[in-house]
Amino acid sequence: TGGVLRGDGGGPGGLGGDRLSGLLPGDQLLGLLRLLCLLGLLCRNALRGCPTGFPGRAHSSSAPARGRGRGVRLWRGVVVGLVVRHGVVPAVVDEPGSGNGLARDMDGDLSGGRLRGHGDLPGDATLHLSRNLHLPGRDRRLFRTARPVRGALGAVRLRGRQGEHRAGRGLLCGGPLVRGGQGATPPAASPAPPPEPSVPMGANPLLEPPAAHGMQPFADIRPAHYRPALEQAVAEREDRVAAIAADPAPPDFANTVEALEFSGTRVQYIHDAFTHQVTAGGDPALTGLEQDIAVLLSRHEGRIVRNRRLVARIDAVHAGRDTIADPQSRALTVHWWRRMRRVGAMLPAEAARELGEVNRQLSRECAAYRQTLIEDTHRQALAVPGPDVLRGLPADRLAATAEEAARRGRAEPWHVLPLASSTSQPALVQLSDRDTRRTLFERSLGRGADNEERAARIARLRARQARILGYPSYAAWATEDQTTGTPQAVEAMFRQLAQPLLHAAHTERRALRARAGHRIRAWDWTHHAAAAPPGAGEGPTADELRAHFELDAVITQGLFHSARLLYGLEFTEHHDLTAHHPGARVFQVTDEHAGTVGLFLIDVFSRPGKRGGAWTGILRPQAHSTATRPVVVNTFNLTPPGTGRPCLLDMSEVVTLFHEFGHALHALLSDVRYPAHSAPGVPRDFSEAPAQVHETWAFDERLLAHYARHHRTGQPLPPEWIKQVGERHGTGGVHLLVEILGAAAVDWSWHTLPDAPDAPDAPDAPDARSASDAPSAPDGQGGNADWNPARVEARGAARWGLDKVPEIPPRYRSGYFDHVFHGPYGAGFYAYLWSEIIAANLVEALERRGGLTRASGEALRTMLAAGGSRAAMAMFHELTGLDQPRIEPFLRRRGLPDPDIAPSSLSPNRTSS
Ligand SMILES: [Zn+2]
Repeated sequence: TGGVLRGDGGGPGGLGGDRLSGLLPGDQLLGLLRLLCLLGLLCRNALRGCPTGFPGRAHSSSAPARGRGRGVRLWRGVVVGLVVRHGVVPAVVDEPGSGNGLARDMDGDLSGGRLRGHGDLPGDATLHLSRNLHLPGRDRRLFRTARPVRGALGAVRLRGRQGEHRAGRGLLCGGPLVRGGQGATPPAASPAPPPEPSVPMGANPLLEPPAAHGMQPFADIRPAHYRPALEQAVAEREDRVAAIAADPAPPDFANTVEALEFSGTRVQYIHDAFTHQVTAGGDPALTGLEQDIAVLLSRHEGRIVRNRRLVARIDAVHAGRDTIADPQSRALTVHWWRRMRRVGAMLPAEAARELGEVNRQLSRECAAYRQTLIEDTHRQALAVPGPDVLRGLPADRLAATAEEAARRGRAEPWHVLPLASSTSQPALVQLSDRDTRRTLFERSLGRGADNEERAARIARLRARQARILGYPSYAAWATEDQTTGTPQAVEAMFRQLAQPLLHAAHTERRALRARAGHRIRAWDWTHHAAAAPPGAGEGPTADELRAHFELDAVITQGLFHSARLLYGLEFTEHHDLTAHHPGARVFQVTDEHAGTVGLFLIDVFSRPGKRGGAWTGILRPQAHSTATRPVVVNTFNLTPPGTGRPCLLDMSEVVTLFHEFGHALHALLSDVRYPAHSAPGVPRDFSEAPAQVHETWAFDERLLAHYARHHRTGQPLPPEWIKQVGERHGTGGVHLLVEILGAAAVDWSWHTLPDAPDAPDAPDAPDARSASDAPSAPDGQGGNADWNPARVEARGAARWGLDKVPEIPPRYRSGYFDHVFHGPYGAGFYAYLWSEIIAANLVEALERRGGLTRASGEALRTMLAAGGSRAAMAMFHELTGLDQPRIEPFLRRRGLPDPDIAPSSLSPNRTSS
């Protein structure tokens, strides 16, 4: 979770081009993408600071224009430049001559220590440096190194001017751009990326050996280094792979599987650096490189998979795997063999060609799906001519809607409320005007209409992929290497969850209706559910609670202290190391024997150009074989609080921090030989579980007493509030769970359909809501499938009874389900629920060991340390004593009544590795 789903967006883009890997979850055949929690879903929030929820697009209305000079930045016709010695710092300037006009945001290019201005900027313009208002101390230090610079224009002075700043939402606001001389002529905007600054290459820091701390040398890396470094690394790797394939010695583990695993280390090292820099919203030149690099890597991957001699050698080693004594080596052999087989590397030539063609079509459809969705989501934002109908929104969010209007070129009194990616909009909770809620909701539900047929085409192409590879459905292919193992296990989960969730939803609907005094519609539910329930008594207000959750205290006294109690870890801030973005803080992690564990980076605040949401990235995966310590990054998009004000969090944000920190600990505590097994090298439907376990500690009473203190008085959270914190956290939970189950059902309904090449298209259905009585095709059973989008959705809902609660529509529908139709979650959305069921079982087992103690920490650490080198469910069994996860702990965790069903267990695939 975390959020890229609530930050939704989905993190870094997948590969385009001629990838052979269209089938792959994660989209990247060779596992290059090391980001966990791309879709952060169960973590609440994270949308703060990411108005549209689409990474990299939130500010598309102010796309940089191509200028005439090298490295010029034109921001909607305004020349902006900002120079610091190194790194990238966002800057804002006013419209020329507009005095107190609108601030514009951008990322200034700071490389080279020179302001690179544009010829239209007249003679004696003075650009006042804005001070970074919300980034931590390291950045302010960067700012202090800023100095007046003679730029390319000869007369641009850059001057820091502290104390004259207005705080913006995720923006930095600067002083006015004072013009002299003739007026500037704003050049026409164009969507083209800015030209890549040229950097004298000399030695390429990306090709140098890593420094002792292991992190990539970000202080020296420039955008222009990436492509040549990657080209060289790819060429080297292909030479090595060719040598493996041509080896005259008979294939064995060391000369084939292990050699292949090591061959990709440098490509991974460079790509990890790039992915982190580009998602952090650094130099726009990086964004311009993204597609190029994706194509470069995708072609590289394709060449490896099509290397028949290599694949034959892997197949031979796999056939003799029982003779490999070492379990990690055996697991690595299975890993590579399965990976190759699952993308069709072992298919006969004719079938491989057919698969390649399907993959190419799929690439195009998925890319078009996302592009359509981004544009439509942007277009459907709710614009209102004045703040009145937005009453209920907190002041900071209301201010953000005015800023959003300004970004879209609408002056006062307009406000624009952008759409979040999910059906249910976060603002529905606060908006008190019912008509506004309804309009907002209907816009959300209505977007992506053009994508519905495309979703059907994508699902059909995937069904065809599965058939070519020998699976009855895409769902069968997708679950094969997961802990569930089969579609039947997933359907058992649906069946067991649906009844108690729907029961709870009915109960809550009745209560809300009584409270509201009218029928509860879809746009009312979260609004009324968030109000204090009757009889709750006088509890703390949201603001009173927030006063006890100050960001730095949550990090150092909450997150870090939990790691100390569980694992004996210590975190020490390192001011001398340069992170992938100046906004990130770097901590050295040591264990109780003062041994270095790795580096932990945390990048908290939103900024222009940064991908939305919350996620965990791996800059360096732990691996003994390459003597690599882990370097792990937690990224969030919290709203900067403004000058001199504390950053206070609401509970959902606190939970998001704990969740992502759980992912980070999974990677930091990894103790495996091979990079492939290092977190997140575990089945996707298991990878969220450790993070969901760690979320739980946010509510631990002893830990709360330690970290939740009033930011001014230092007083701990009153004991009578502590209980309420946990209870409030649960409110709205039923709504969220039902909508997630609904989205999972949409996903499942599409991806269990079999490929039926000759089936005629079914006639159109008029509407999804009238189609629930349509004949229900048995999923995954063959026969003529009905691919009509409305009926596919309706069947999915009806199969589990979700049509009985139409007030809670699926969290995502076919036209705007980016995770599934562009991202890696096709037939995998169930994983959010499944992994939380696993997590709930783990938490109860850990509580029997004392909860937040070293005893339970050691037990959990054993599981985390093994990463993907052991079968996940075997480790689950060791920790819990259970053969299979049970549903009751999940219901207890969510505050739902136990269902009146026999004690249940779900049947996962215990043999998967
Ligand atoms: Zn997560």
